[in-house]
Amino acid sequence: MARYTDAVCRLCRRNNEKLFLKGARCFTPKCAMDKRPKAPGQATSRRRRRFSDRALQLREKQKARYSYGMLERQFKRTFKLAEKQAGITGENLLVLLERRLDNVVYRLGFADSRAQARQLVMHGHILLNEKKVDIPSTLIKEGDTISWREGSKNSEYYKILAESIEAKEVLSWLSLNKQSMVGQVVSLPTPDQVDAKFDGKAVIEYYSR
Ligand code: SF4
Repeated sequence: MARYTDAVCRLCRRNNEKLFLKGARCFTPKCAMDKRPKAPGQATSRRRRRFSDRALQLREKQKARYSYGMLERQFKRTFKLAEKQAGITGENLLVLLERRLDNVVYRLGFADSRAQARQLVMHGHILLNEKKVDIPSTLIKEGDTISWREGSKNSEYYKILAESIEAKEVLSWLSLNKQSMVGQVVSLPTPDQVDAKFDGKAVIEYYSR
């Protein structure tokens, strides 16, 4: 499955904003944005660049795409789906992105980043409604359960996670049984339940041209 494989910290620096793509490292002084906040290639420039509307729209679209770890083709397909749904396209897009299985695994605290969550799904560690699903883009529905494959519970990763899960909080549209490590989608997310890291209106304008 195609995915972005370049150094992800570059993406934050290019957008001049922390996108939290590396899990726990993003909250430490090792974060590249804290160490070298300027965009790649701009380290010596003292002039503040002015961006066109088009460049700002592109930046918002890229921020959304990078945050959810998607390639352009996948992202555009999701945008087209959001456009076909009733309601506000930007909000539909946010909800569709949040409904991805890899995002839900991340939101449940089973992984430190969406990239790590994607690996867990692709390697078959995660069950959706008690069946193995290894496609990270699978869209979850209300009432779905997300759990661990029995064999994966013997892994060192799972054991450490089970000990640290107590301290983790989940968003209000999800629930998590911390003893059994089974998550459930209580309801589909609404835009106000998600901290959107991008401007949906700018993404619509970007694709409208
Ligand atoms: Fe971005 Fe995280 Fe890298 Fe910091 S550590 S630059 S927030 S991906």
